[in-house]
Amino acid sequence: MLSRRAAQLPPSSTAALDARAKQLAEDGVDVINLTGGEVDFPTPREACEGGTEAIDRGFTRYTAVAGIASLRQAVAARLARMWNAPCTAQEIIITNGAKQALANAFATLLDPGDEVIIQAPYWVSFPHMITLAGGTPVVIPTGADTGFKLTPRAVAERITPRTKALLINSPSNPTGVVYTRAQLAALADVALGADLTIVSDEIYGDLVYDGAEFTGVASLGRAIRERTVTVGGWSKTFAMTGWRVGFAAAPPPVIAAMAALQGHTTSAASSISQHAALAVLRAEPTAELRQRGIALDERRRILRDGLAALPGLRLAVEPQGAFFAFVDVSGAYGPGAHGQAIDSAATFAEQLLRTTQVAVVPGADFGAPHHIRISYVAGPETLREALKRIHDFLAAIPGSRATTAGR
Ligand code: PLP
Repeated sequence: MLSRRAAQLPPSSTAALDARAKQLAEDGVDVINLTGGEVDFPTPREACEGGTEAIDRGFTRYTAVAGIASLRQAVAARLARMWNAPCTAQEIIITNGAKQALANAFATLLDPGDEVIIQAPYWVSFPHMITLAGGTPVVIPTGADTGFKLTPRAVAERITPRTKALLINSPSNPTGVVYTRAQLAALADVALGADLTIVSDEIYGDLVYDGAEFTGVASLGRAIRERTVTVGGWSKTFAMTGWRVGFAAAPPPVIAAMAALQGHTTSAASSISQHAALAVLRAEPTAELRQRGIALDERRRILRDGLAALPGLRLAVEPQGAFFAFVDVSGAYGPGAHGQAIDSAATFAEQLLRTTQVAVVPGADFGAPHHIRISYVAGPETLREALKRIHDFLAAIPGSRATTAGR
């Protein structure tokens, strides 16, 4: 019954693991769920009030497909401040989360067979979004030698006459890597030279630590901006994953095409969520966000330092943004503690969950089969407990570096 396209589409593995961990917790199991793409902070009060006010005032009907004018303007104003350049509401579309902005951008930009350059490790949905839109993901592996970043040379080498776009995701899911302004400018120059569109997923742009600075690709100059689709949203910055509201910013003809597509598929984002999004942008609860940033940075350090003390595991790269640590687990490969060998990140994660109830995401679906992603979305005490459980798990593996270390 299924189309070939649908038959080939696996469910999101991160969502599946998250669901499994949540189910275990509901069943009363003492699970520590570090799989998720959402922090445990509440949605800011201002957003909740904006949402309830929309309901109370009966603002519960279809809105303009591209979003309510005041919200498009508010996003444009925020980007203009960030880019230090004017931005108009015609350059903004409000979407059902950043996910829809990305999917619609690819559907709008790609003809069948068009190639999109992406790096591995990548966020699990990127290749599927490109394929669903008829495109072909061209994956460039990255590793410790380049700090898990694309280089201009690696990109230039993979450009063909079919290359349509370059996808950039900084700060990155799953590595937490943040590109510097100079690194982005060098990549953008390659895109400019080859007439590529840049799709820049900047959903984690407000979450950077350790002196790292976030750069919006569209801020690199007029010529770059004219070929860039910027994607962002409220999910991560404002802990609003369930509200399903995001945006894309691009030249007006691209936005108009995305709006046409959205008009025929999902229509506008929820009127209530748009109001909540507007309220929180207007209030811009800076002090609260700063506090959250400090708390996330503390968690990042706890996890980083804790991992450094675990023989067999190795932080692949220092995370400077988002809320993920990307960890090489190949040092823990071996016969396993329960009669099942650990020979991949998948078997590692499976056994870790089964024996210690700590849920992490194996990297195969990120294009990194020997790594796991650990989200530091839980508080310090929970993270410390998770680290302790991982330590005990490693220590129980016969012949593992954890058990032989110190002998
Ligand atoms: N882009 C990246 C890199 C993500 O990690 C996520 C969510 O996990 C999204 C986009 C989607 O965000 P939203 O919840 O706004 O759809």
